[in-house]
Amino acid sequence: MYSVPKLEHYSPESLDHVVADLLAALDAETVVLRNDADWKAFRDRWLARKNGVLTLVNETWLKAAPGPAKREVGRRVNELKARVEAAIGDAHNKIHASSADALLAAERLDITLPGIQRPIGVKHPVLRVMDEIVAVFKAMGYSVGEGPEVETDYYNFESLNFPPNHPARDTQDTLLIAGQEHKPSRDRLLLRTHTSPVQIRTMEKQPPPLRIVIPGKVHRNDPLDATHSPIFHQVEGLAVDTNITFCDLKGTLDHAMKALFGSSVKTRFYPSFFPFTEPSADMQVSCIFCGGKGCRKCKNSGWIELLGCGMVDPNVFDFVKDNGYDSSKISGFAFGMGVERIAMLKYEVEGIQLFYEGDVRFLEQFA
Ligand SMILES: [Zn+2]
Repeated sequence: MYSVPKLEHYSPESLDHVVADLLAALDAETVVLRNDADWKAFRDRWLARKNGVLTLVNETWLKAAPGPAKREVGRRVNELKARVEAAIGDAHNKIHASSADALLAAERLDITLPGIQRPIGVKHPVLRVMDEIVAVFKAMGYSVGEGPEVETDYYNFESLNFPPNHPARDTQDTLLIAGQEHKPSRDRLLLRTHTSPVQIRTMEKQPPPLRIVIPGKVHRNDPLDATHSPIFHQVEGLAVDTNITFCDLKGTLDHAMKALFGSSVKTRFYPSFFPFTEPSADMQVSCIFCGGKGCRKCKNSGWIELLGCGMVDPNVFDFVKDNGYDSSKISGFAFGMGVERIAMLKYEVEGIQLFYEGDVRFLEQFA
């Protein structure tokens, strides 16, 4: 803070002298201001109502001046005040002009630079094939059903005619949710091993007739190799009505395979076993690579095994009997196919893991 000297004399010369001293101090200060904080301190030093230089000047000079000198002192003080205010204003403009310049420089846009390229995403090949399969069945009047991926033992096994401890359960290496031991076995949670639980869930809600396809993700404790993955996708189908026969099953699947692989594809059915269908069959398609002549892909048999199917076991209908599924009056067929398997055949993909590695070079081919 500046000390404002008391005036001994009020002559113009001594007034010139003290005013010149203050102006010199003011100039010296404006030179070193660097930023807004400096500037604020500077302003307050000169203009603050309490102890600011101008306040002190007023008190020490003007108020103390004898009557005849007051007029001259007042004029000098007003001049000084105008100079101080101008200096503060200038200093403010200078600081802000330079920071605005810096801001403009930092935000300078080079409009000749190429823009950011954002590649357009495409549907993953697995989802694409799944949608394609669903579309084939939708065109035949099927609706789409969905269900939870974390299922109860009841929906995943028991209601599909896998009794507790039945050896058929061993064919599906199941991933169980931990900490379920205190529950009754049918309530224990697991990751669904097939989309079939949605069959029962749908039949519980909807009386016959029924035609649904169920696309979805399923989980099994299978180590990853060229043809197995712990996570994969299925499309399951179920048709229930009066007088549904195995011929309807064959006709439906034969049409679906022709829609998916081309009209020259043939199908054939082999006896098989699934707990929830009776009779059960494996369906094969004529090799789409060699047209049935025999090649490496079909192991020279001319046929490729593609899906499981069969007539719904009456024991399954018994679980939803109360909702109109009386096996003496209605019948139905079911089928299930692996989406990855079909995608691998359609696109001649050699290893299932390619679908999950997220390698853009692989996925780009489906763009
Ligand atoms: Zn072949």
